[in-house]
Amino acid sequence: MLTGRRYRLDLTPVQAAFAEQVGGICRSVWNTALEQRREYRRRGAFIGHATQCAQLAEAKRDFPWLADAPSQVLQQTLKDLEQAVKAHGTWKVRWRSVRRWKPSFRFPDAKQIVMERISRRWGRVKLPKFGWVRLRWSRPLGGTLRSATVSRDGRHWFVSFLVEDGQATPEAHPGPAVGVDRGVVVAATTSDGDFHDRPFITSKGTVEQPASGGAQKSGLNRAILDKGWYGLELAVTSASRYTGTKIIKVPAAYTSQTCSACKAVDAASRESQARFACTSCGHREHADVNAAKNIKAAGHAVSGRGDLGATRSVKRQPPRPRARQHAAPAARGIPVL
Ligand SMILES: [Zn+2]
Repeated sequence: MLTGRRYRLDLTPVQAAFAEQVGGICRSVWNTALEQRREYRRRGAFIGHATQCAQLAEAKRDFPWLADAPSQVLQQTLKDLEQAVKAHGTWKVRWRSVRRWKPSFRFPDAKQIVMERISRRWGRVKLPKFGWVRLRWSRPLGGTLRSATVSRDGRHWFVSFLVEDGQATPEAHPGPAVGVDRGVVVAATTSDGDFHDRPFITSKGTVEQPASGGAQKSGLNRAILDKGWYGLELAVTSASRYTGTKIIKVPAAYTSQTCSACKAVDAASRESQARFACTSCGHREHADVNAAKNIKAAGHAVSGRGDLGATRSVKRQPPRPRARQHAAPAARGIPVL
């Protein structure tokens, strides 16, 4: 399956300036081509990708600075614009502003890209017009390279490779279902009684630090952010592609007030943040584990109806060696906030 691999680049000052320049050229091409499409629409006409590509080739003769950028990168910019217009419409596609837009450009032709490791910590990639560029060897490429995207995030430049890793998604995950309760004191608790409270790796590769443990209402949003639930969801969703695990998000309502044993609902059963004691049957359990069991049951109910679309289900997975960088917990249900 296609998957992404991101590395931090170690550009020389000259390379960094050139990357900035290429980003600027791509931005100009995007904005000019978008304005052209809008102008055509205002006149009741239409201009498509092929015509714009031909005109770009002509424009390079009049504006030599256009030719400073790798040509496949500029063509890709026009292709990206075409896709954006198809998806959102000519009037909703955004301009790329100098302030808001983070420079990013793609090399779609893998035949012109070479990637290799040069030491334990360093690798390098050869890109058209850039030559060899050093990168931090943080992980193996793990597949066949399909394309490379160079982008800046803050002060740092990165390269993201699209890689075909030769693996397929299994039809279904063979393991048993598990419910996951997302919490504030403990980030994630499973119906099996596992507590996961640790930093999550975000899509940017940064680590989100857990909150100090306080659960004051005023700091709730902050605490939720600190737990990196979005990062957890991304990691789990990504990992599920390798295990065929089905991820079902279920509404969080009443999962913490319902007894997982007798199904009685009573807010008074939740004795404290951590303790659940059923006022009907006396069942006692850690409150988060009790909630996770209710979430598991809710997930079963949903999947039994084949009602996945309506619950915004996301495919997803449990921990396996292949997903070690995420180490996402096995999960079946995530309560929707
Ligand atoms: Zn009960």
